[in-house]
Amino acid sequence: MSTEQAALSVQGLTAGYGGPPIIERVSVTARRGAITAIVGPNGAGKSTLLKAVAGLIRTTAGTVFVEGKEVTGLPTETDEDTLGIAELGRNVVEIGKRHHKSGASVTLSVGGFVPKPFTPFQWFGQNTVEELRRKINLLRDDTRRSHGVNMKWHDPKATQIEGLASRGDRRLGPVIEEVWRRGGTFQEWSEKFDLDLWVDAMANHGLSLDWYVHRHRTEQEILPWEHLSAGLHKDFLWQDWRDALAEVGLPDCRWTPCYDCGACTGYSIEHIVASATPPAGGSQGTGQDITKSSVPVTLLGRKPEPAAAGATGAVR
Ligand code: SF4
Repeated sequence: MSTEQAALSVQGLTAGYGGPPIIERVSVTARRGAITAIVGPNGAGKSTLLKAVAGLIRTTAGTVFVEGKEVTGLPTETDEDTLGIAELGRNVVEIGKRHHKSGASVTLSVGGFVPKPFTPFQWFGQNTVEELRRKINLLRDDTRRSHGVNMKWHDPKATQIEGLASRGDRRLGPVIEEVWRRGGTFQEWSEKFDLDLWVDAMANHGLSLDWYVHRHRTEQEILPWEHLSAGLHKDFLWQDWRDALAEVGLPDCRWTPCYDCGACTGYSIEHIVASATPPAGGSQGTGQDITKSSVPVTLLGRKPEPAAAGATGAVR
């Protein structure tokens, strides 16, 4: 049966919880209108397989198709996007050359993305060290052949601990103390940073860096910061996250009906619309009249939800 004909097709899926893989190269096909059962003894990996298919844990190999559509590689950052950073640098150098006789140069300073609480990406599983290294190498190779474009990058290992601090919970208190007691001071200095100290301290407290940093969260998960409020409503952020996966944006709320994101309404701040006609107030309040320039502004509508409920699962 082809992947197009199957309701669900799993091919060569490998996944686990940060240690050795729990399931390896598993393939399953489920036909429409048929009941498919996964059988096996306790500990065989049945739950792990279902979690991997639903995108609740990170997969390290394999592909999942739902109704013929691949959902393991949903769009966030593609290699083309990554290489676009180098392209931007080259374009800036070209513009600089027009104004500087002695030539122009640009330094690209790149670091891995660290999801933050109270943002649409609070559910996103951060890139692993290996994936960040791969992207950095991709960029480095590309900029090597670009005269005037230099590149600096942030240590992907340090990015993991930034991710841990960003979305950790109260259980990390003893971990931080242990790192400190074992000499882990000035961890933000590259010459002092030691990832092993953190990984060991996490293990000593029965915690996994992979679980905290690389795992995609579900809508139902209670996040450690939910007893706090930054104004934004969780359901708005979740919809924004889904929109990000579907690659759509929302028009600026200064000239649309209020989306009730919570930023104003939660704090009794009145929403005063500059004008019902976008963008009469100028682009982003800069006073720039984009109707008389070539600034490419496109307001995108919402697209349908991604195909699978667990489609967030393998976005990288
Ligand atoms: S007007 Fe305020 S509450 Fe409404 S969508 Fe805009 S920022 Fe959010």
